[in-house]
Amino acid sequence: MNFEFADIVLPLAQPAYTFAVAEGMTLHEGDAVAVQFGPKKFYTGIVWRLHDERPDFKRIKSVSRRLYDAPLLSREQMRLWEWIADYYICTLGEVMRAALPSMMKPSGSDEAEFTADEFTPRTERYLALDPALAADAGALSELLDRMERRAPKQYAAMVSLSELGTRPDAPADGFVPRRLLDADPAVIAALHRKGAVRLCDRPATRNTSYDNRFRLPELTEAQSAVRDSIAAQWPATPTVLLHGVTGSGKTEIYIHLAAEVLARGGDVLMLVPEIALTAQLIDRMERTFGSRVTTYHSRLSDRRRTETYLRLNESPGGEFVIGARSALFLPLRHLQLVIVDEEHDAGYKQEEPAPRYNARDSAVVLSRTFGCPAVLGSATPSLESYVNARSGKYGLATLTERYAGAQLPEIIVSDTLRAVKRGERHAHFNKLLLDKMTAVLGSGGQVMLFQNRRGFAPYVECTSCGWTARCPNCNVTLTLHKGAGRLECHYCGHTAPVPAKCPACRIADVQPMGFGTEKASEEIAAVFPDARVVRLDRDAATSESAYRRIIDDFAAGRSDIMVGTQMITKGLDFGGVSLVGILNADNLLRNPDFRASERAFQLMMQVAGRAGRRETEGEVVIQTSEPDHPVIRQVADGDYEGMAARELAERRAFFYPPYARLVSLTLRHRDTQLLRRCAEVLAGDLRRRFGRRVLGPVTPPIDRIRGEYIVTLLLKIESGSSFARARALLREALASIAADRVLRSVTVICNVDPQ
Ligand code: ADP
Ligand code: ZN
Ligand code: ZN
Repeated sequence: MNFEFADIVLPLAQPAYTFAVAEGMTLHEGDAVAVQFGPKKFYTGIVWRLHDERPDFKRIKSVSRRLYDAPLLSREQMRLWEWIADYYICTLGEVMRAALPSMMKPSGSDEAEFTADEFTPRTERYLALDPALAADAGALSELLDRMERRAPKQYAAMVSLSELGTRPDAPADGFVPRRLLDADPAVIAALHRKGAVRLCDRPATRNTSYDNRFRLPELTEAQSAVRDSIAAQWPATPTVLLHGVTGSGKTEIYIHLAAEVLARGGDVLMLVPEIALTAQLIDRMERTFGSRVTTYHSRLSDRRRTETYLRLNESPGGEFVIGARSALFLPLRHLQLVIVDEEHDAGYKQEEPAPRYNARDSAVVLSRTFGCPAVLGSATPSLESYVNARSGKYGLATLTERYAGAQLPEIIVSDTLRAVKRGERHAHFNKLLLDKMTAVLGSGGQVMLFQNRRGFAPYVECTSCGWTARCPNCNVTLTLHKGAGRLECHYCGHTAPVPAKCPACRIADVQPMGFGTEKASEEIAAVFPDARVVRLDRDAATSESAYRRIIDDFAAGRSDIMVGTQMITKGLDFGGVSLVGILNADNLLRNPDFRASERAFQLMMQVAGRAGRRETEGEVVIQTSEPDHPVIRQVADGDYEGMAARELAERRAFFYPPYARLVSLTLRHRDTQLLRRCAEVLAGDLRRRFGRRVLGPVTPPIDRIRGEYIVTLLLKIESGSSFARARALLREALASIAADRVLRSVTVICNVDPQ
């Protein structure tokens, strides 16, 4: 059926726009099209809805043309985009920006520019024997004789070409890909000049014949019981939380669940918080599933991502995609299983720009639109998922033991203040930790040290007047990076030289204060001069290959001590690590965020989980000045339930998630007066609609970033009242700010379920 009009989503923060469908053009919902928008500009748009309702504006432009042979979005993907736009309070156009690689959405200030920007598939050169020669055996053998004497390379190419062309599986038109011949382009060009062969270019195709013989690990009894329990719960609760201690073999369970789906031709989507940090996991999946594994994340080239998208869009099924959050938007049309690993990880939330979506929650929604099951796995589940599992909204499966009888590490809390008093502290290390390191290194073991800050020192201070180096654009101190020889702002990237003398009093030197991974590695190398120390943080792992080199070296035992940030916590599985040190737990506990305790617990448990994953028993030393802090006690006891109970009681009392939903509003502007006024107006409007559910405006601790002042508002909607209604009211309030001629210049960022 042909419709007259199409509502089309453009990659802009605007609602869908209606275009006319030209005579003779057939469109489908989900199709990508080229359209002219505004006086000149050409955009790629997605056909969202086809209809015959004439819009009430006069000049309706027509869709210029259809792109690609098939719709780019399935119905399920369209439902997902709609859910994201509605729930996270943004436009479909903003979802489109995040969902499609930029090569798939060309634009231009005229049609020629648009076309030049379009994706062209990679092609491959093919060649065939010239038909005249192929038909005339005599002429062919004469030519070959001549070549054999004068041009042996051309001769060899011709011989293999005629062999390939006469094989029973040869294509009817005689064209074979050049890569099958052992001949370089110059030789082929010479043959072409002589009229011996014909050439053509064809789209490069990837071999997608898949092997179903997977090399599956044998599950232990506990593991197969869990796998069976997950499968048994799916009919009633399609989302199951897999709560398994570190090293219990959650990955093995994912592998088994995935294998069943792949064997029957379904697709599996597995999300991981940060793909660059999961090299080891991908290796394991590739060893098991071979070429079916497709990885997808924003660090791949745009061409690679576009090719992957288009290939999957036509796939008959049986795909295993492992990706970071943007993999959610891949067009898997036969999705039968969604896996979210490390489901508690804050990295699933996109903070900037819109859509500010949580990929874990969106993945659960995606699985529902497909009517397929989902598994959320973690050793330290988010309290949201934990409560969902406890209330029966999600299923629950637990693994309490490590694989092969490996013991959970023993956790020792080391009191920093006491160590100082007794003279048992050397640089940033307590004697207890150093003694244990001496023993482990002496017996050939490996050690991991965790420090939550990168750089050498988080700030530098004048020893005489107390001046500190601060960022001119942001209200924060500059971090000293000693190796790079400069000060750096971790918020805007501003850099400055290290002053030789204090610029304020011109009397004293400036001293590095506090410590980051760079300083910790320097200090530990001085204590253990024979040990090979490596650092793993964003400054050391500047590329994926640098990251791989660091972890491969450590895995092969070419380094002894690894000092790192959160990077060392994620998904790493090293057999040789028997000791892990958490150098300063205090700064984890002292976060002002309401999730600080939960996060500190998760982080410390994850770090601790790197120790003793094989035969050797592991130990973890936590250095802290608050040894009796409840979170420290609960980490030491591995008491997730205790942590959850205490935290949940607090969250319930003060209306925090999971007992309420939060929407944070961040207002930014260079002019503080205007910013204040806008915040007051918005807060007043929201109070009329929401009453006491509105908090603020408040000035956050870091109240200036990149030269803009910041004020925030918080909306708390208790569970039980309609969140959809609340979002509608909020949209109205935001619209009235956007309609105000003065206030609209203030940037208002709306973040639903902030992390
Ligand atoms: P988790 O993901 O729960 O932290 P892993 O899946 O990484 O745990 O398992 C920890 C280690 O134990 C890995 O080296 C893994 O290969 C090994 N392992 C776990 N289960 C099995 C199994 N059934 N067969 C062989 N090795 C296993
Ligand atoms: Zn000074
Ligand atoms: Zn800055």
